[in-house]
Amino acid sequence: MNQGQDLIVDQRYDLIVIGSGPAGISAAINGVIRKKKVKVFGISDLSEKLTKAPRIDNYLGFFGVSGMDLKNSFANHIQKMDIQITEEKVDAVYAMGDHFAVSTRLNMYEATSVVVATGVSIKKSIPGEDVFLGKGVGYCATCDAPIYKNKVVAIVGYDVHAEEEANFMLDVASKVYYIPMYKPIKKIREGIEILEKKPKEIIGDDHAKKLLFQDGELEADGFFILKDSVDLDQLVPGVEIAEGHFKVDRHMETNIPGLYAAGDCTGKPYQYLKAAGEGQVAALNAVSYLDNR
Ligand SMILES: Cc1cc2nc3c(=O)[nH]c(=O)nc-3n(C[C@H](O)[C@H](O)[C@H](O)COP(=O)(O)OP(=O)(O)OC[C@H]3O[C@@H](n4cnc5c(N)ncnc54)[C@H](O)[C@@H]3O)c2cc1C
Repeated sequence: MNQGQDLIVDQRYDLIVIGSGPAGISAAINGVIRKKKVKVFGISDLSEKLTKAPRIDNYLGFFGVSGMDLKNSFANHIQKMDIQITEEKVDAVYAMGDHFAVSTRLNMYEATSVVVATGVSIKKSIPGEDVFLGKGVGYCATCDAPIYKNKVVAIVGYDVHAEEEANFMLDVASKVYYIPMYKPIKKIREGIEILEKKPKEIIGDDHAKKLLFQDGELEADGFFILKDSVDLDQLVPGVEIAEGHFKVDRHMETNIPGLYAAGDCTGKPYQYLKAAGEGQVAALNAVSYLDNR
């Protein structure tokens, strides 16, 4: 979780939405229309899977748009409804009985209900990543930071959220390398060495030792692979998973009362309109849950 700072609980929300893709945005607007106090976590660009789509022909009412155009329409919609995105990565959601505690690296938030709409990660693992997981390879730099005090750390970041972890690591490690797998870089602290190279493999013996690139290699004590989404059962301890996705009923409710899921993270087909529809169903059922308490 966090590294010794006092977690700040700002206020209790009716609904926290985790994810700013079509599922999360749709959940948020429906929650706000029903006059609930809603907070959304994600990225200002909403979703990489939106901005990267070259052409979309199956989103009702938007024939032939680019993903960027659809993203702009979504952004315009939430701006008109005064919905802001909090650009913090959620590390964990804990069911506390009558509410949920949602933790990011720096803060703790509380909500009576939660919709998880984190999408699925399509990023392939780097060969060797699984072999050395827990032996010099990790997925949460801030969690493992104390282990790397005064050591050399390499961080492969798949989205802007990873920058926060790299910046934090600079206070702990003797040297931090940052290997961005996206563009543009937003805010990396001076002192971090950026390597614009494509990782090929992680090698070592009983511990990870080197990250190999097409052209060259990097020696380090620790390697962090920071993907855009966290493993679902790691994100929500105690949640039921079926074939790699959240197990939900027709109300988009998980096995944890008050906790809903929507979009790609509930399973295939992976499509915008299915995601937006599920976000709506999840939010409206969260509203019923809130009203019936
Ligand atoms: C290149 C491409 C083209 C596509 N074309 C089409 C198409 O033409 N038609 C179609 O219907 N579908 C298409 N898709 C599929 C579509 O993109 C997905 O089905 C859709 O984006 C799913 O929406 P979602 O809201 O579930 O998740 P996503 O859009 O993946 O959004 C998830 C959001 O959650 C955020 N997030 C994740 N974890 C956390 C965390 N721990 N804390 C805070 N935020 C977090 C992510 O940053 C992201 O913003 C395409 C996908 C790609 C990659």
